[in-house]
Amino acid sequence: MIKVTVIGAGPSGLAQLCSFQCAVQKGLDIPEIVCYEKQDDWGGLWNYTWRTGLDQYGEPVHSSMYCDLRLNTPKECLEFVDYSLEEHFGKQIPSYPSRAVLFDYIEGRVKKADVRKWIRFHTVVRHVAYNDVTSVFSVTAHDLIRDMQYTEEFNYVVVATGHFSTPNAPYFDGIETFCGRVLHSHDFRDAREFKDKDILVVGASLSGQDIASHCWKYGCRSVIISHLNPPTGYKWPEIIKEVPLLKKIEKNTCTFEDDSTADVDAVILCTGYLHHFPFMASELKLRATNRLAIPNLYKGVVWADNPKLFYLGMQNQFYAFAMFDPQAWYVRDIIMGRIDVPDRDAMLADAEDRLARENAGKDVYDEMRYQSEYIKELAADTACPSFDVDAAREVLFQCRKHKNEDIMSFRNNYFKSLVTGTMAPMRQKLWKDDFDDSMESCLCD
Ligand SMILES: Cc1cc2nc3c(=O)[nH]c(=O)nc-3n(C[C@H](O)[C@H](O)[C@H](O)COP(=O)(O)OP(=O)(O)OC[C@H]3O[C@@H](n4cnc5c(N)ncnc54)[C@H](O)[C@@H]3O)c2cc1C
Repeated sequence: MIKVTVIGAGPSGLAQLCSFQCAVQKGLDIPEIVCYEKQDDWGGLWNYTWRTGLDQYGEPVHSSMYCDLRLNTPKECLEFVDYSLEEHFGKQIPSYPSRAVLFDYIEGRVKKADVRKWIRFHTVVRHVAYNDVTSVFSVTAHDLIRDMQYTEEFNYVVVATGHFSTPNAPYFDGIETFCGRVLHSHDFRDAREFKDKDILVVGASLSGQDIASHCWKYGCRSVIISHLNPPTGYKWPEIIKEVPLLKKIEKNTCTFEDDSTADVDAVILCTGYLHHFPFMASELKLRATNRLAIPNLYKGVVWADNPKLFYLGMQNQFYAFAMFDPQAWYVRDIIMGRIDVPDRDAMLADAEDRLARENAGKDVYDEMRYQSEYIKELAADTACPSFDVDAAREVLFQCRKHKNEDIMSFRNNYFKSLVTGTMAPMRQKLWKDDFDDSMESCLCD
């Protein structure tokens, strides 16, 4: 029997499992599936932990999420078409719910699909290699509870281990002399720690923007956002200031590229993450940065050098879940022989063409258009549950405009579900006044 392994039971790996379950429901024969998941539960980054550094098994902690994290794009852009939020919660919910709400929703879909039986929890994949003679992959996994390592063979491998977990932490001159806490956003858990403090946030992409906003909301005294690029243009509250990149640190004094200085109590590196696959043999290892088109991946998912290997969700994500489903269905259909892949040269040319098209984009709106077209392209080739991608793109545009108007209040807006057509309720409390991220609180709106 054909054997498939899915590595990781976060949203993208779970989408892969759901795609196979959907085939079962249609009466099709599917391969044998084994999903390895290093955490004790599913949900990937959405499976919050208080831990930082190493987990209870001595493995690097996976989740980078923090208390009071709310969606950074409206839920309307990631609602599952085959499992609406209304089906799960019995009513419509606000457009920017908290992490806890999202975790519950992710779990609801996979419980309904009954895919837990395929997952081996607390099992970390240590090595994946391909044997050219036998044409199979050998996958070495480590059961962390029994502390036992074993190797199994598979015909196909789907890597769904995410890429927002291994910190990219650059060195800044003198950082070792800093007298205070230096942490990466991966280890940021609770903004209350920084109440009444002066903090420096290095990096102004999504994590930097969100962590600076959270620290403001939770009462820090001042936030300096230092970064490489031109100013973001957002209208920050008075206590948040953008400055050029950090040049050096001497004890608590930070000097920036324009030679301005500031004394701070803590430094939070919001400097992004590495695509990190220490378990892949080097000839199978994806080397990528956080962008929309990924080198060497045909259709953004198929490893051109060996089309029995797939990488899911390796792109930067405007849509996340809504992109993972078409990717997963596409991969499933290749594995089940319903879609053929072209030869290696054609696959590499496809990947190159995607990079060139992304590079031709002028702004963030072009990036959103790019990913919307990508979703449509994959969905058109599969029987993946489809949704109105153009309408979702308009929601993304609106979200961006709201953010440009006021980054501290864009989460107070609400949109109509593209799955059920129902309008989300307006939040009773504004985002800045709402300190309760529990599911109960979010669902009372
Ligand atoms: C702070 C933060 C906020 C975010 N906010 C949003 C948001 O508001 N909206 C949105 O759409 N997206 C958001 N994202 C993006 C997020 O990447 C996706 O929502 C989604 O979690 C990606 O799913 P994934 O399954 O590809 O990866 P992950 O969620 O990272 O899951 C990967 C899984 O693989 C497992 N794994 C890793 N290595 C191994 C191994 N060797 N062996 C076995 N298992 C392994 C991990 O334990 C994990 O369960 C956010 C990301 C971050 C970091």
